[in-house]
Amino acid sequence: MSTVSCEHFEEVADQIVRLYPELAAREGGGLQARVAALVNRLDDQFLKMAIDAGAEEIAIAEYVEKSLLVQAGYFESFPGEGLMEGAIGTRPPAACYQCYPQLSGKVLGESGLWTCVGTCGRNERETGVGRLRIFCMREIILLGSAAWVREQRARWLTTIARFARSLGLQVDLVPASDPFFGTGDAHGRKLVQQLKELKMEMRTRVGESIGLAIASFNLHETFFARRFQLRLRDGTDAYTGCVAFGLERWAMAMISKLGLAHALTVATEEL
Ligand code: ATP
Ligand code: ZN
Repeated sequence: MSTVSCEHFEEVADQIVRLYPELAAREGGGLQARVAALVNRLDDQFLKMAIDAGAEEIAIAEYVEKSLLVQAGYFESFPGEGLMEGAIGTRPPAACYQCYPQLSGKVLGESGLWTCVGTCGRNERETGVGRLRIFCMREIILLGSAAWVREQRARWLTTIARFARSLGLQVDLVPASDPFFGTGDAHGRKLVQQLKELKMEMRTRVGESIGLAIASFNLHETFFARRFQLRLRDGTDAYTGCVAFGLERWAMAMISKLGLAHALTVATEEL
């Protein structure tokens, strides 16, 4: 059972109260705990889907060394993106970065799936609906040949779209690009990303936001393989991809559509 750390739920609870003031009156001080419960039940479902597909779980930490992000090419890919840094350390901006070092140097066979969940931090400049500075991300990491990873991503797009609809959410799938506005290399990568459809986003309506990304389905080609020495059995660089879920955004979308009580019931039902 998922036990995502609940300490950061104040920001999302505040946003929910602003959208649905009647919930504050009804739930009182229990709102944060109920939203945390919904996030955890949703994560149970994603974890189950990953395990059923053969994924192995990887445990990740709440804070990372900056050297990991340097190795992962984060600062080149996202120039100007703010990190959440505190006395204890740096919050990871995404969950999957911590998985690659754990796979590095292992015999990886022909293909494989891994999954992890963690608290992420981004020093977002504008904090609209669902744009949190600290939030939970569940990820599924896909690793194999180019064709295998692309086929797996297509499978997950279908599976997750079906799952979203089973929760009562209306979703759109759109090709996207990461929001960096860099010049030179980063700008070039953004154009390539769009052209090759390396990033697909699943969007839904939350409050006044009509297109909030609740999940992204990313192909990295051999970007991480080259940085973390991820090699397939035949010695070639592995292709990787990841499917990333913003858990609070799923919770917000469900509350928006069904109300909190009904959302909790639906999210707890067997798949
Ligand atoms: P957006 O297009 O909304 O800026 P992104 O492209 O930065 O999202 P990814 O880097 O692909 O998103 O992150 C994976 C998922 O994590 C997103 O699809 C979203 O559900 C969630 N996510 C990203 N940023 C935030 C945030 N600031 N607050 C809450 N959830 C987030
Ligand atoms: Zn990822």
